[in-house]
Amino acid sequence: MRCFAGLLVVCAGASLLFAQSDPADSEIQQARVRLEQLRSLVEAGAAPRAQLAQAEAKIADAEDAALLRRTLYGQDLTDAQSEEMIAAANRRLDRRQQAFDRAKKLVDAGVATQASLSDFLEEIDRARQESDLASQRAGLVHELTMMAELERSVEEPIGSAPPAAREIGERHDGDGVFTPSTFARVESAYESHFGRPLPVSAMGETAVHRALGFDHRGRVDVAIHPDQPEGVWLREYLDDNHIPYFAFRQAVAGKATGAHIHLGPVSGPLAHGG
Ligand SMILES: [Zn+2]
Repeated sequence: MRCFAGLLVVCAGASLLFAQSDPADSEIQQARVRLEQLRSLVEAGAAPRAQLAQAEAKIADAEDAALLRRTLYGQDLTDAQSEEMIAAANRRLDRRQQAFDRAKKLVDAGVATQASLSDFLEEIDRARQESDLASQRAGLVHELTMMAELERSVEEPIGSAPPAAREIGERHDGDGVFTPSTFARVESAYESHFGRPLPVSAMGETAVHRALGFDHRGRVDVAIHPDQPEGVWLREYLDDNHIPYFAFRQAVAGKATGAHIHLGPVSGPLAHGG
């Protein structure tokens, strides 16, 4: 199981790298206005059509950059948003590859020097790193979605008995109490035992839970398989301290991952408007 905290470090480094050339949203708005002006000029035959295509590509790229800023470096994503994020990163990579190909033709024709290609290669490299990060982030969001789907399959229906969930995992009600201070105790016990932080994958409600329509407020998911040594230790600690949890082992049919330990009572459906 991957450590989710690790990605934050990767993303922080990349955001420095990325922020340098990232235009602000207002710049995109201004560029759109200029594009419309240019379009009128082209239609009137007062500007070359090629200039229009270039301006359009530039805006599309700036919009993709803005989308990446919201998603790749933002906090909370759904599976659908992470697909958009990957598509934007790949489009940016493609545009830079095409720019390189055009520059290479000039070099091959003897019109430009070999050295003029180095900037294009750097741009490709940067876009490739962005694209790798996007895939990595999407992979984690997908794992969160698997976990959330597992939880939804055993969620507590209002006014009826909880469904039998034995095949999916084990439910332990403990004393039914799970507060921020309970969680703080779990966190510090884990850290002092293993010498590293508890790998929390979802703290309370996330975009993934909201998209699936259930209430995960006041609950915490930990990206640990219940049967790996850390999971065995954690379950024992939770049992000894009568802390409610759900150990999810079995993925939903056709899904390969999603095993984790959920701290707190089983989630219920999200109230309307909540
Ligand atoms: Zn959970």
